[in-house]
Amino acid sequence: MPRVITEPCVGCKHGDCVEVCPTDCFYELDNMLVINPDDCIDCAACESECPVSAIFPDDEADQKWVKINAEADFSNIKNITSKSEITR
Ligand code: SF4
Ligand code: SF4
Repeated sequence: MPRVITEPCVGCKHGDCVEVCPTDCFYELDNMLVINPDDCIDCAACESECPVSAIFPDDEADQKWVKINAEADFSNIKNITSKSEITR
């Protein structure tokens, strides 16, 4: 049950979430970050770091956002391992 990122993330450049992830599973879309569900170990560390409460367990999030996270083209988008790497 991975965490997923939802609508409040659109436009956020803080990336506080990224700094605490032990498995580097954040990736950058044009206007938000997403979590690779294959890499997320569901530790929940990121959830409380997000200032706009955009991160949820996938069974508590709208399925639209679960799909946006799960179906991202992870081999062709940027893996973000530090908030300084966020370019959007
Ligand atoms: S801190 Fe929250 S809103 Fe900001 S990039 Fe991370 S998930 Fe998105
Ligand atoms: S729940 Fe843990 S492993 Fe999953 S994205 Fe958040 S910090 Fe990373």
